Amino acid sequence: MKPFISLFLIGLSFSSLASVKIQEELYLPGLRPEIVKELIDAGTIEIDHVTSEGFEVYGPRGIAKYLDSKKIVFFDMKAIHKSSLAGYPSSAQIVEKLVSAASKYPKIMKLINIGKSVKGKDLLIMKISDNVNTDETEPEFKYISSMHGDEITGRELTVRLIEEIGQKYGSDKELTELVDNTEIYIMPSMNPDGSDMKQRGNANYRDLNRNFPDITRDTESTTAGREIEVQNVMKFQATRQFALSANFHGGTIVANYPWDSKYDLHPLDGFVKELSLGYSDLNPEMKSSTEFPGGITNGAAWYVVKGGMQDWSYVWYNDLQITVELSHQKWPDYSEIPNFYKNNRDSMVYFIKEVHRGAGFKTLRPNASGTVEITQNSPVVQKMGSFAFKGSEFYKVMPEGDYTFKISEKNRSPKTISVRVEKDLVQANGNYISLD
Ligand SMILES: [Zn+2]
Repeated sequence: MKPFISLFLIGLSFSSLASVKIQEELYLPGLRPEIVKELIDAGTIEIDHVTSEGFEVYGPRGIAKYLDSKKIVFFDMKAIHKSSLAGYPSSAQIVEKLVSAASKYPKIMKLINIGKSVKGKDLLIMKISDNVNTDETEPEFKYISSMHGDEITGRELTVRLIEEIGQKYGSDKELTELVDNTEIYIMPSMNPDGSDMKQRGNANYRDLNRNFPDITRDTESTTAGREIEVQNVMKFQATRQFALSANFHGGTIVANYPWDSKYDLHPLDGFVKELSLGYSDLNPEMKSSTEFPGGITNGAAWYVVKGGMQDWSYVWYNDLQITVELSHQKWPDYSEIPNFYKNNRDSMVYFIKEVHRGAGFKTLRPNASGTVEITQNSPVVQKMGSFAFKGSEFYKVMPEGDYTFKISEKNRSPKTISVRVEKDLVQANGNYISLD
């Protein structure tokens, strides 16, 4: 399988143009590098979810006709969906569920509208925390699902998680502790138009996970020219201090860690692998994957994605993100959803908890800004890098150990603080050192 994969990757670097218009969604069984090459030569296409069983091809009208002319077997993925749609709520019904949860649990839930989709649907994020109407200094965590409109499992699972947290807050010790000491943001549906149209792209047929600033091509994170759903998520991210996040997809079952856009190892490679394994370990189906050892994979080693959300969030916002593929079928039979929730529930809670594996600082000055240079002193000595901060708090998720933060602000003398990061510990309101 190895030589095939490398041939794929050569092709993929040409195919991930932000301008690919997705009007046809096809599945080609088998690994056929010669077909990929032909398709790429034939025009702009995008490939996803390459496994030993086959791969997905996305692009403008005409691909199916082209494959037919070459007598190449394929399936129309949009046709597959129709049979299993029964039972799924519409995006309007998802909104109703979120509105209902927010009104049922107003002490810990607040629904935030971050803007509209192409067709004018509200893009909603549920904030879950104690004192939910106050912006507290607590580690900030985020889940975003279904930016690919047809990858629907995560939308169901995130709504179920929100409802379970609401029901069990105050009685379940683990969930209560998490809500009391964390700011959790959950966005079940980043692409409601796409979900209602049962398609991957948004209403403009654009792939939102190829539409973010790309760390290998862009020097700045700017919203100009991007799809409205991407712009709204970018603007919201800029107002928060997310330290750990995941985005949910479907099409296979695996936890995918950065980088997606280049082959270099992520500076926290060992750590992000460990976090991904932590997710997979609690999910029996993911853990026992025959396709991906341990149920995890490095993004680029699987296939290169340019302009994805995962790499963007870490490089520009220090928000460590993984991508979780939840189900082999993008649109599984609705009766299977409870079982997917069962398989992912503990993993989802575990991953939120991991945002407490970090440290930061806070100040009463709301407009502080500068850079923080982080050095790890034990158990290994290493430079972690220099990170920009803005506002009254900074927080970074890191492997356990002792660290020095050297904080530099304009017109202020530099300040050095010592912090310790511990594992398996939900800190009361987070692990922050006060600068004041
Ligand atoms: Zn996806």
